Amino acid sequence: MAKKIQAIRGMHDILPEQTAQWRYLEETVGNLFRRYGYREIRTPILEMTELFKRSIGEVTDIVEKEMYSFEDRNGDSLTLRPEGTAGCVRACLEHGLLHNQQQRLWYKGPMFRHERPQKGRYRQFHQVGLEAFGMAGPDIDLEVILITARLWRELGLEGLELQLNTLGTPEERRHYRQALVDYLRSHESSLDEDSRRRMQSNPLRVLDSKNPGMAAIISGAPTLMDYLDQESRGHFEAITRGLEAAGVRFVVNPRLVRGLDYYTRTVFEWVTDRLGAQGTVCAGGRYDGLVSQLGGRPTPAIGFAMGVERLLALLEEMERLPAGGDAPHAYMVLVGEAAVETGMILAEALRQQLPKLQLQVNCGGGSFKSQFKKADRSGARWALILGEDEIDRKVVSVKWLREEREQQQVAQSELAGYLESLLENHS
Ligand code: ATP
Ligand code: MG
Repeated sequence: MAKKIQAIRGMHDILPEQTAQWRYLEETVGNLFRRYGYREIRTPILEMTELFKRSIGEVTDIVEKEMYSFEDRNGDSLTLRPEGTAGCVRACLEHGLLHNQQQRLWYKGPMFRHERPQKGRYRQFHQVGLEAFGMAGPDIDLEVILITARLWRELGLEGLELQLNTLGTPEERRHYRQALVDYLRSHESSLDEDSRRRMQSNPLRVLDSKNPGMAAIISGAPTLMDYLDQESRGHFEAITRGLEAAGVRFVVNPRLVRGLDYYTRTVFEWVTDRLGAQGTVCAGGRYDGLVSQLGGRPTPAIGFAMGVERLLALLEEMERLPAGGDAPHAYMVLVGEAAVETGMILAEALRQQLPKLQLQVNCGGGSFKSQFKKADRSGARWALILGEDEIDRKVVSVKWLREEREQQQVAQSELAGYLESLLENHS
């Protein structure tokens, strides 16, 4: 036998047993976003490498070491998208969606980062994200955070913690940066290699270090909060006031800087302690500088992205996933040539009349016994049986596969109505 080829490390198949759960999550999220007036956008998975370098920033984990970049046949450098915001902004600019108008958009799909695979961290993973363009005030920041809070409520997820911070404006950050560099310099001998390098190139990134050995130094560093002007402070306070009024609890985490360069003012993460080290299920913030950085007119913007795998893991951990999966409602058992002919046509008539019915028809023949086995394995609730006897009498036998109930015979001409009432009483 030929050697089997396996999936790429860190990239996973989503098998039929799992797809119903994925769909449940994606539909719950999509429906909620629509209820707030957000519209879906779909962009290519491949973009020019330059797009991510210019938006995410050269001195970030993603651009420094996580991107899947390659040269295509024309010699262009392309990259599998590591996140969704850059492509979304590019598409908006390309199609003039930001000209004198606001936009509320959302997206979902696979993202790619060359990280060390572990629980909650993969090389192909999925995000659902949302972006709002053209609104500068704290009201939209509040709306965006309230959407996430409502989502947890609708998914039945309790115990997530909202961490909130502000990164100020670029100018405030420049002042802060100087204070931070002075502080880091005075501790230079205790910095790890990454941090020493970042102290030069992008000192705020030092606060984002994942090295536990850096935690003490980071916690002693000056905080940006002390360098905010009146306006930034007001913006932040309006959000915290709104959250309090809406009854959404939060903690201010001055070390929250987020892994991407383009954020301004508001940043936030939703964190759980139920998933081990990879506990952030949703992260976002305001990025007023990005649109102009990518060649558009200055446009305020805010958004977030959620990790679908992490959310599914949390839903599973908290036993909040709906049971059931993708089993058909009914499985049609057909024994004998005449039954196959009649059954296929009868099944078509049922599908025509009952668009909600999920009906699987036995193909490939087999005895009653082997067909019942397949019916059982399909997860169906009812077997619809057609054998010689039923054909002669123009009936179908209905057998309950999941509960003790007596088998019934129903006239073929009345089967659609009969199944309709079964569906109404059982869903
Ligand atoms: P982390 O600090 O965990 O690396 P990040 O700051 O790189 O996260 P973002 O770029 O903000 O993550 O992505 C938003 C969300 O996408 C994360 O909060 C997480 O839920 C999810 N996510 C990010 N990277 C991965 C990955 N490699 N595998 C699975 N989910 C991921
Ligand atoms: Mg990361």
